[in-house]
Amino acid sequence: MNCTKCSYLLWDLRECRCPECAEPFDVTHYAFQPACVHFACPHCEQHYLGTDEMGLPAPRRFECLRCRESVDVSTMSVHPLTDDAFGEPQIHGTPWDYRDRVGFLPALLDGVARLATQPGEYFRRATRSRGSQLFSILCAYLSAAVSIALFAFLIKGHVIGAASGAAFLADPRFWIVLAIGVPVVQIAWNYMYGFFIFAVLKLLGLPSGDYDRSVHAVAYGSAVLPALFLLPPVGLPWYINVVSSGVEHFNGTTRGRAVLAAIVPLLLAGNLVLCFLFATYLA
Ligand SMILES: [Zn+2]
Ligand SMILES: [Zn+2]
Repeated sequence: MNCTKCSYLLWDLRECRCPECAEPFDVTHYAFQPACVHFACPHCEQHYLGTDEMGLPAPRRFECLRCRESVDVSTMSVHPLTDDAFGEPQIHGTPWDYRDRVGFLPALLDGVARLATQPGEYFRRATRSRGSQLFSILCAYLSAAVSIALFAFLIKGHVIGAASGAAFLADPRFWIVLAIGVPVVQIAWNYMYGFFIFAVLKLLGLPSGDYDRSVHAVAYGSAVLPALFLLPPVGLPWYINVVSSGVEHFNGTTRGRAVLAAIVPLLLAGNLVLCFLFATYLA
């Protein structure tokens, strides 16, 4: 039974937190072979054997036979009875995956911070299906808010025409278009960019894997959208780094292919924009 983050052995601990890296864990997120371990009551150390198909005591909450205290299996300490006793981790996940348990806002902020600083670590633990689009929309709103704050700041400092800028922000139509437009554009972008990444991976000879995986990777890349909007020379490589890290983990491909798959669609899009500008200039 090892820590899912640092692999430290988690036998006989009174607190459900890895002593090495401080990562919290839950005993019920592991499966055990029958009769290889016992579980101790956190109040009186009374031993119990695992009886259900996961090798855990059933039910998951019960009254201790000895001390009569209420016991939650997820917080019991686990003691190996044989040399080869083993606890197989069943659930990997991030706080965002378990946002209903850890709280919506802390989970969101944790996701943004971890994706921005250690995307590989985040994607190693992330599950693909739990709310990547929602995460992406919230990040898009966040970057819109940051951009508008900057805009308002520039108006105040008279860098931008104060009268027209202020009139623009005072117009309710702007806010309505923004409120509706941000999620629509963000979701369209996630699917479009995800599709092109998938297409490049296919061309590079990725044997299996589905289109959805690249879409999830792009959606989680939204964590660094504010940087992308405010400071593109820094934000763009950062964004490519996070998205390609997601593609690498979700699609099970190499780092090199993932980076290539993330860059090629952006280069094509950049070329299209340049061609368009050039054509407008000629006309
Ligand atoms: Zn650990
Ligand atoms: Zn007890």
